[in-house]
Amino acid sequence: MGTLDGLPPLREVIQRYGLDARKALGQNFLLDLNLTQKIARTAGALEDATVIEVGPGPGGLTRAILSLGARKLVAIERDPRCLPALADIGDHYPGRLEVIEGDALKVDFAALVPEGPVKIIANLPYNVGTQLLVNWLLPGQWPPFWDSLTLMFQKEVGQRIVANEDDDHYGRLGVLAGWRTRAHMVFDVPPQAFTPPPKVTSTIVHLTPRPEPLACDVSKLEKVTQAAFGQRRKMLRQSLKPLGGEALLARAGIDSSRRAETLSVGEFVRLANSL
Ligand code: SAM
Repeated sequence: MGTLDGLPPLREVIQRYGLDARKALGQNFLLDLNLTQKIARTAGALEDATVIEVGPGPGGLTRAILSLGARKLVAIERDPRCLPALADIGDHYPGRLEVIEGDALKVDFAALVPEGPVKIIANLPYNVGTQLLVNWLLPGQWPPFWDSLTLMFQKEVGQRIVANEDDDHYGRLGVLAGWRTRAHMVFDVPPQAFTPPPKVTSTIVHLTPRPEPLACDVSKLEKVTQAAFGQRRKMLRQSLKPLGGEALLARAGIDSSRRAETLSVGEFVRLANSL
């Protein structure tokens, strides 16, 4: 059967290179190139962009990104078994794909691509994805080196990223993402779309940096959200006691009987700046 890009179907690639999915590496592959193109399109126009893909695996999303015209794609994969399949893709799109073998959590992303716009696209094991997202949201320098993030998450994690106050999913991740980015969930991907299927529904989250987020020291914001959401059912005068309790809340002009999940991002920033 033919494919959209003239390369062999992914099932064949997986068989040829013996890429049976390994649980320890969080491997749930997407084999439908129509779906991977739909995901890649979420990142907007790719023609002038440098794309960083984390966890390309057998290359379903990689092929979509290249077929949509990305000028340059840097892909970071931890599993060396995937390298021959990725090399075939590189041969099909000469000079456009660079593959780095290694653990994405140890890569200095900002140093990878000196020239923007940089779009990051990834379908990763969710724990690695969440850690990378936090790393991409924390740098001292803002706007960051990236122009957009298009990431697959377990749906529940996606809900936490985009959550606002008074939402059950609102927490540290929602405050951090809401402070520095505009984040939204784009569409769900059902378990059956993956091989093997995971237990839960996944979702694509798209984030773009706010050009001028409210001024705030990241480590102080982390401190107040950690304390406040660490005891999310308690009143703030109680949960924030180690950081100054009533006095801190009075300085920030926030009623001390409120609970963490009722505070807007702006109010968390005020608290952090009052520390
Ligand atoms: N992108 C492919 C797709 O959509 O079919 C593969 C997705 S699979 C969910 C996750 C991929 O991330 C696997 O290929 C796995 O080997 C890779 N991976 C897992 N942990 C990684 C890490 N720390 N750094 C880089 N790649 C990682």
